[in-house]
Amino acid sequence: MPRLGRRPLLGLGLIAAVAAPSLARAATLTGATLAATAGRARLTLAIDGAQRWSIRAHADPMRLVIELPGATWRGAATLRNAGPVRAGRFVAADGVLVLDLAGPALPSIGPAREGQITIDIAPVPPPRFEAAIRAGRDVLAGTARSAGSLPLVVLDPGHGGRDPGAIGTTGVQEKRIVLAAALELKRRLEAARTCRVLLTRQRDVFVPLADRVEFARRRDAALFVSLHADSAPGARGASVYTLSETASDAMSEALAQRENRADIAGGLRLPSVSPEVQRILISLMRQETRVGSNRLARLAVRELGEEVQLLPNTHREAAFVVLKAPEIPSALVELGFLSDPRDEAALQQGAHRARLSLALSRAVKQWLDSTPTG
Ligand code: ZN
Repeated sequence: MPRLGRRPLLGLGLIAAVAAPSLARAATLTGATLAATAGRARLTLAIDGAQRWSIRAHADPMRLVIELPGATWRGAATLRNAGPVRAGRFVAADGVLVLDLAGPALPSIGPAREGQITIDIAPVPPPRFEAAIRAGRDVLAGTARSAGSLPLVVLDPGHGGRDPGAIGTTGVQEKRIVLAAALELKRRLEAARTCRVLLTRQRDVFVPLADRVEFARRRDAALFVSLHADSAPGARGASVYTLSETASDAMSEALAQRENRADIAGGLRLPSVSPEVQRILISLMRQETRVGSNRLARLAVRELGEEVQLLPNTHREAAFVVLKAPEIPSALVELGFLSDPRDEAALQQGAHRARLSLALSRAVKQWLDSTPTG
């Protein structure tokens, strides 16, 4: 039976977290400029916070309507003409910025900067503009954030200290492989400037499972990714796990049971938790969190599949204690299995770990792009 760590997760903290408002927030628009360059117009919106936006084209009169749901305005409500844009005005009640066009023109994303939405608007032949209207969907969309509001991603290198995790046939220790992979993934994500990144451990130290979860919860993390390279007889390739009360298969159940004993391996004596309490915990986990976890798993499977060999039925489920934060979408990635000599050899190679971290960084970035986090 999976056990919880020494700090019970069920308590006031958890109830408060479940009752907390959605992480999705809207920003304050602190400034807007419209500038003409070489027949185009560049719209720059300065934002404070995180803001989702999308643009649709309309005819009669020709317009581009930028939807900024929930945004509050500070500053000028009108914009003067530039390039193909005749005029712009905010309609605060609808959360939209309307750009009246002098002729058919469509937007593209301008140079990305923290705290800005930058959109270039260029003239296009009438048929292209008409096609964009007929398509009846957004011609462009994205999420922008200001520096202070970059979402936090917590990476959790499994095991550490007295708990080496799995040990390969040549003596390679899981705790070392996953720390190296986590540090590389952190570097990649930070270089892309789409999130802040913290690790639950930066060194070879033992961290109890519940502390790993609490670490992310205390800091209001947007995402939690646990990295492992366990042993499982006959298994080879990368795989991704999300939380479920019942495991998707026997191997995943065995993996979760072994992982959940990490605290014992690290020398902790644990109070046992009744199955009833566990059921309550899991049912309290928000639907939103589950949806977010599953989306992360799908993206990770897709991106990992571009780079490395996968375990069949790559997205699996089991009751991993470390995935039990009720408000933080979480996934556990087995980078490979140290019980397989080919995986063991690959995981020791920097080039292979680079492919893994590249794939995971793409998955995390795509997840953040499609999730408005405050
Ligand atoms: Zn592990």
